Parts: sequence; structure tokens; C-alpha cells
Amino acid sequence: MAKRQIVKIDEEKCNGCGLCVSPCAEGAIVVENGKARVIREELCDGAGFCIGACPQGALSVETREAPDFDEKAVEKHLAQTAGEYIPQICFNCGRNEDEVPVLPCRKKGKSIWVCTKCLPALIHG
Ligand code: SF4
Ligand SMILES: [Zn+2]
Repeated sequence: MAKRQIVKIDEEKCNGCGLCVSPCAEGAIVVENGKARVIREELCDGAGFCIGACPQGALSVETREAPDFDEKAVEKHLAQTAGEYIPQICFNCGRNEDEVPVLPCRKKGKSIWVCTKCLPALIHG
């Protein structure tokens, strides 16, 4: 245990949509009984990739006492849950992250994914 950054889920705001589950590369978030939760704290590295995916603003990163992040535990966990991987899709061209890297972004209150091929056109118009 040490003070470190870790994801915080506001259960009041969470509607259980599940959009935060696959953006977490460590597979640390699950939805149970209609609410997202961190399945095991040692799987969450506190990087916050899930935050931008939440349409409810239910996710944040806090600094508090938590079990150390454990990369070995992540590897084991991902090996066990390999079949549950859902590739994210670019809202613009439909390519998925197996074809091209995708980034989370926000548009008109929605969380969307955009690929690196489409991003330059969005930036430059
Ligand atoms: S994306 Fe937000 S609202 Fe949806 S399950 Fe995750 S925390 Fe809950
Ligand atoms: Zn695209």
C-alpha cells in the first residue's frame, strides 16, 4: 500500500452503460448490478483512459492509499479474460483499433472514438 493515483467511480452518476469497460487496457473495470466498479485495485494503474469514455462524468482519478499497481496480475487477468476484448471503432470511418490506433474524444456531450487516419481532417477541417 502507498499513496497513488487510482480511478474513482461516482455511483450516483453511473448509469451502467459499460462504455468505460473496454477503454481500460488492464481490464480493471466491470459493470455489476448496473454500476461500474474497479474489480481489483491492483489492476488499475490510474492512467485515466476510462475518464473520457464516460458520458455521465462519473469517473475521475483520485490520490489515496491503495494496493500497488501490479503488472504481473494484469497479465494474468488479461490472459483469463482474452475472449472479452471488444475493439473500439472510429465514429468517422468505421476502422477498428486492430487496424489503426484510436483515441477517445468528446462531441456534443457524447464519448466517441476517432482513428489517427481521420483525426488530421477533424483538426484541420
Ligand atoms: S462509462 Fe460512466 S456511466 Fe457508463 S458504466 Fe462507466 S462509469 Fe458508469
Ligand atoms: Zn477513422
